[in-house]
Amino acid sequence: MIHNGRFILATAFVNSHVIQENIVLGKLAFFLMIAVLVYWLIKTRSSEDTDNLEDNSDEESAASKSLEDMVRCAQCGVHLPRSESVTSQGEFYCCNEHRLEHQREDSSS
Ligand SMILES: [Zn+2]
Repeated sequence: MIHNGRFILATAFVNSHVIQENIVLGKLAFFLMIAVLVYWLIKTRSSEDTDNLEDNSDEESAASKSLEDMVRCAQCGVHLPRSESVTSQGEFYCCNEHRLEHQREDSSS
């Protein structure tokens, strides 16, 4: 009986020791998992946010550029960036030559 009792106590001690180690390891693993999960969530969220912001700004700037900065030559009808166009009396021209031609036609007719 005594022998059995000691044996049981010993195994109980060993078991509890092992369980405590497992709990500590489990806690460490758990916190590590949480830390990795939180880090991953923050990383993915922030990268998604920046990606979306970059995509939106790129699309908006590209769209606004194509809408605002492209003008049509009143003489030959070619589309060109506004900054490269010649502006005269509210009309856009691809070059000074077409501006003069267009104004000559207007004044002659
Ligand atoms: Zn032109």
